[in-house]
Amino acid sequence: MHPHLDAEHEKLRERVRAWAEENAAAAAVKDDGVEAVAAAAKALAPLLGRAGWLKHLAPRPFGGAGETISLRELCLLREELARVAPLFDSVLSVQALGMYPIALAGSDEQKQDFLPALADGEKIAAFALTEPNAGSDVASLQTRATKRNGDYRLTGIKSFISNAGIADVYIVFASTEPAAKGKGLSAFIVDARSPGLDVREKTRLIAPHPIGVLALEDCFVPGAGLIGREGDGMKIALATLDALRPTVGAAAVGLARRALEEALDYSRSRRQFGRALADFQGIQFKLAEMATDLEAASLLVYQSAWMHDRGVGSKRCAAMAKLFATEAAQRIADQALQIHGGLGVVTTSAVAQLYNAVRALRIYEGTSEIQKLVIARELLK
Ligand SMILES: Cc1cc2nc3c(=O)[nH]c(=O)nc-3n(C[C@H](O)[C@H](O)[C@H](O)COP(=O)(O)OP(=O)(O)OC[C@H]3O[C@@H](n4cnc5c(N)ncnc54)[C@H](O)[C@@H]3O)c2cc1C
Repeated sequence: MHPHLDAEHEKLRERVRAWAEENAAAAAVKDDGVEAVAAAAKALAPLLGRAGWLKHLAPRPFGGAGETISLRELCLLREELARVAPLFDSVLSVQALGMYPIALAGSDEQKQDFLPALADGEKIAAFALTEPNAGSDVASLQTRATKRNGDYRLTGIKSFISNAGIADVYIVFASTEPAAKGKGLSAFIVDARSPGLDVREKTRLIAPHPIGVLALEDCFVPGAGLIGREGDGMKIALATLDALRPTVGAAAVGLARRALEEALDYSRSRRQFGRALADFQGIQFKLAEMATDLEAASLLVYQSAWMHDRGVGSKRCAAMAKLFATEAAQRIADQALQIHGGLGVVTTSAVAQLYNAVRALRIYEGTSEIQKLVIARELLK
C-alpha cells in the first residue's frame, strides 16, 4: 500500500478505476474539432456527477462527499480518470478549479446556491484568471470591475479559459482597485447568461480539452456575486492554485502509468532481430527509468496531498509535486512513444495521445518555470 494512503483510499482507487474502464467509451472523442470536444465534455459532467465523483469537490453540508475536501481523494480521482481517459480528468479538474474558490471563501449562501448543483454535475463551472497580457504574471491582469449602486460591471478579455462555452458559472478575477495591482483584485461568481458575457472563440489544443476566450463587456454582476471581500481575489486565486497543484501532478502520474503499461505491453510483443524488444538491455534501461520516475512522482504527489489533508501543506511541497510529476510524466510518455517506433507517432496511437495530453500539464496552473520560482522563493525566505 502507498505510504500516504489508507485502505479506504485504495478502495476508492479500485472503484474509480473500474468505473472509468467501464465508461471509457463515453470519453473517447472521435472528432477533435472544438465543438465536438465541447459537446463531449458537457455530456461527461452529469455522468461524473451521477457516479458521485464530483461530490469529492465539495464539503458535505453543501452536497459533498466528506466533511472537508480531501486532497488525497481528489488526487486518486484525477490519477485514475487520467489513466483511462484524459477528457474525464479535464472535466473533473476544471470543475474543481471553479468550485474550490466558492468552497474556500464563499458565503454559506453562495455555497448553498452553487456547490450542490456543481457537485451533482447538473451545472458546469469555470475559472477565469488568465488574460492575453497576464499569464504567469497574474497581478498585471486588466479586467476591471466597477462598482455601481452595490453591483458590479466587468469589462475585459479572459483567454485560455477551460470550459468556456459550456460552463454555467464562471469564477472571474477582476481588478476593483487598479492602482493596488495584485492587492486590488477581486473574485466574482458570474452567471454564464449574464448580459455582456460572450464566448468569443473556442481554441483547439493538441489534446482534446474544451477551452476558449471569454469577452466581458460591461457585464452585470450583482453585489452578491463577490466572493469574500474586495481585494481578496489574489489570495483566493493563489490559494486555489496552491491547493490543487498536487492534483495536476496526480493526473500526470495517471497518464504516465498508462504510458508505462503501454510500453511494457509493446516491448513484450514486438520482435526485432529475432527477439522481443523487452529482451534488449537498452529497452530494459528505459523501462527501469520510467518506472523509477513514476514511483518518485507518485510519492511526492501523495506526500504533498497527505500534508495538505493534515493541515501542514506547504507551497513548496505542492509546487515540487506538480513540477516533478509533470516533468517526469513527459519523460515517461516520450520514452513510451520511442519504444513504439513509428507507431508511436501515429495520431491514433495511445502513446501519441498520452504524449500530447501530458504536455499541457507542464503549463497550466503555473508553468514548470513558475513552480521553480515558488520553490526557490520558499527556500530563500
Ligand atoms: C490546457 C490549458 C488549460 C488552461 N485552463 C485555464 C483556465 O481554466 N483558467 C485560466 O485562467 N487559465 C487557464 N490556462 C492558462 C494557463 O494558466 C497559462 O497558460 C499559464 O499560466 C501560463 O501563462 P501564459 O500562457 O500566458 O505564458 P507566459 O506567462 O507568457 O509564459 C511564457 C513562458 O515564459 C515563462 N516565464 C514567464 N515568466 C517567467 C519568469 N518570471 N521566469 C522564468 N520564466 C518565465 C513561462 O514559464 C513560459 O515558459 C490554461 C492553459 C492551458 C494550456
